[in-house]
Amino acid sequence: QVINLADYRPTDFVLERVDLTFELDPTETKVEARLIFHRREGVDPSAPLILDGDELNLSSLLFDQNELAPERYTVTPESLVIRDLPETVPFEVTVTTIINPEANTQLMGLYRTSGIYCTQCEAEGFRRITYFPDRPDVLAPYTVNIIADKDANPLLLSNGNFLGGAGYGPGKHFAAWFDPHPKPSYLFALVAGDLGVVEDTFTTMSGREVVLKIYVEHGKEPRAAYAMDALKRSMKWDEEVFGREYDLDIFMIVAVSDFNMGAMENKGLNIFNDKYVLADPETATDADYANIEAIIAHEYFHNWTGNRITCRDWFQLCLKEGLTVYRDHEFSSDQRSRPVKRIAEVRHLKSEQFPEDGGPLAHPVRPTKYREINNFYTTTVYEKGSEVTRMIATLLGRETFKKGMGLYFDRHDGQAVTIEDFVKCFEDASGRDLAQFSLWYHQAGTPLVTASGSYDAGAKSFSLSLEQMTPATPGQPTKEPMHIPLSLALFAEDGSKFEPASVDGAEYAGEVLHLTARTQTAVFHGVASRPVVSINRSFSAPINLHFDQSPADLALLARYETDHFARWQALTDLALPNLLKAARDAREGAPIVCEQTFVDTLIAAAADESLEPAFRAQALALPSESDIARELGSNIDPDAVHAGRQAIMKQIAEAGKATFAALYDAMTTPGEFSPDAKSAGRRALRNTALTYLSYAESSPARAKAAFDGANNMTDLSHALTILAHRFPDSAEAKAALETFRSRFQDNALVVDKWFAIQAGIPGPGALDRVKALMENPLFKRTNPNRMRSLVGTFAFGNPTGFGRADGEGYRFLASQILDIDQRNPQLAARLLTSMRSWRSLESARADHARSALMEIEKADSLSTDVRDIVERTLKG
Ligand code: ZN
Repeated sequence: QVINLADYRPTDFVLERVDLTFELDPTETKVEARLIFHRREGVDPSAPLILDGDELNLSSLLFDQNELAPERYTVTPESLVIRDLPETVPFEVTVTTIINPEANTQLMGLYRTSGIYCTQCEAEGFRRITYFPDRPDVLAPYTVNIIADKDANPLLLSNGNFLGGAGYGPGKHFAAWFDPHPKPSYLFALVAGDLGVVEDTFTTMSGREVVLKIYVEHGKEPRAAYAMDALKRSMKWDEEVFGREYDLDIFMIVAVSDFNMGAMENKGLNIFNDKYVLADPETATDADYANIEAIIAHEYFHNWTGNRITCRDWFQLCLKEGLTVYRDHEFSSDQRSRPVKRIAEVRHLKSEQFPEDGGPLAHPVRPTKYREINNFYTTTVYEKGSEVTRMIATLLGRETFKKGMGLYFDRHDGQAVTIEDFVKCFEDASGRDLAQFSLWYHQAGTPLVTASGSYDAGAKSFSLSLEQMTPATPGQPTKEPMHIPLSLALFAEDGSKFEPASVDGAEYAGEVLHLTARTQTAVFHGVASRPVVSINRSFSAPINLHFDQSPADLALLARYETDHFARWQALTDLALPNLLKAARDAREGAPIVCEQTFVDTLIAAAADESLEPAFRAQALALPSESDIARELGSNIDPDAVHAGRQAIMKQIAEAGKATFAALYDAMTTPGEFSPDAKSAGRRALRNTALTYLSYAESSPARAKAAFDGANNMTDLSHALTILAHRFPDSAEAKAALETFRSRFQDNALVVDKWFAIQAGIPGPGALDRVKALMENPLFKRTNPNRMRSLVGTFAFGNPTGFGRADGEGYRFLASQILDIDQRNPQLAARLLTSMRSWRSLESARADHARSALMEIEKADSLSTDVRDIVERTLKG
């Protein structure tokens, strides 16, 4: 069944307030929901009240505290319909359901993880708890009473402020919470159990003291210190940058080990995948620290962009997600290095979102239809959604953008709104018409911009011709031209920037060129000599750019661009043709040779001490095999892509051996471990040098020494990865894997790394290795993190292993999907998206992939989640 945006209408009944009482029991939890409604003005007096359910069991139903005659309602596990309701006066419905948290393997609704009770309600999990108008435009204040065994559950938490608690009969106790901020059901949360806590306080800009608590498993409290620090920095940043203050007396975070996603922004009670809370130097990498900081910030920022102002319907998901990702990106940029952060964001966008946008699962940032909303928590909604917000800031300028945000917070606080409402705030703040710009929300596909330049020495003018084209995507055969903000600058041979006297043919202000027509020629006057153009600086628009620039021009940008993102882009543009050619040559068995300009420029950048180490590490990290495959576009042979890239790595390594050895020695981080961005950057550069050295030296000795000498998880896991991936059959690799396992087998998050490193070992042997690891006693098929680290890394991160020529990798994934789908449809559907680029494979592999997909499609007990993904993947 398909839900359409065009069918949206408000509910017939307004929900005034919600009173919930939970009597917790692992297998028989009793939930009583007292709901007060009144009929919305103007609604047909005969209209019934329709409440959503999902696998529910009604145990009793009262109407204004009286038994309700059976002919006045109809109940199924999926809905409760009540008829003959008052025309105007409010009425109370009391619904009692009995649910089984222990049996809830979907991890949606109320479930159990490591002996505690927790909830996940976004998007439609609340209807697995009680019958309810479970949609984001139904807002009400909630009171929550929790009754449970005192010994097993000393902690009873829900949203809002704590009202009080007391004993409740023998062995039991209760707690009451009240959340005064009207909220939709997807923001409801409950946690009960026995956990350790880290406490702190934060004084808001208006002087209110807020209690901060992070709950983790007993014994893990020290590992929550960094998350607490990140939380306080987030709270401060939102005050300083957006003027947003926290609005309850307490803010709580609970870390749980079984969770489908990263984290959830429930009002006042965020629930996190513990992977994004727990960190210490011994067990967390620099990447883990950066993710924790970003996700803590993300969920906290949702308090304003998501909770105070929420979505009218799920089609508007990017209203909160795209905007909140933009906010967490800005936060991390301010806390760390802005250009390095931008490079990481763009790498992620290109490797995750571009393939989605270019494949069968492509959909607009704001979709118009869905079968299963859980399948729309995508990189398009999140990351492209963030890029669209960023473009608004680029188009309007920072100050006007902030004005628009201020208007948004003032105008819509307490409401459930749409993308149109959001955009209107920026139109009103700027006086600019954003109608054409809004196509970014509605047209799927990554626009391709083709550029060519010509210099007229006589007229001292430079003409830049631009053409834009957005490819067809499922359901959208033709596209309109978009409003594309291109940050652009012209450089002279000596690296200085030209300031053109005037520009015709396109709006150009603040170094941003507005491409609005299908084809457009901008003429820059008063340019003294032939310029080298830098287009889409800072990745101002999420596009593919075709612009033939000579290696010499790219080398000049790599050296002189003041925008360091653009420097990195120039280096990548130098690298790509070499990698693409290498893949083609490898497929043909031809010799692979790398351009000298590229090798020299790259090594010069590596050694350039005026550049921060983190930037140099990014510059040296060549596009991944998946990136190369995406750029090739069709007829992909993963083995050839791999062989080609390996050969290029080896040539760079040999040419730069002395530089890499010197960096490896120089980029140490003496003293006590610190996760700050600067130290992390030094580790990244040092480890990148180590990777290159493993190609130049063809021996595991140096990586083994690095493994033995590592005093933090970043260095340790990097050395282990080199040993396992580059020298998989060596005694050193085997010994190191064993050492790592025995040292960390009691730490689930590190065990995940152990599985992931092995799942990523390239080559056709990977499948047997993965199958063997599934038999390992440490493997836990019900734990999403463990599943993602083994099966997810194999399917998303090991192109030669997963895509081995005989198709066994695809068949294996199909069988896993069918198995996982029985327990956890969301996880199954997510893992299945690893097949989204199957059509670009060479024909034999594509045939194998198609038959694996058809194997899934013909199974008869598929969840809606998996059915939706498999059908779109095959059709698109
Ligand atoms: Zn979010």
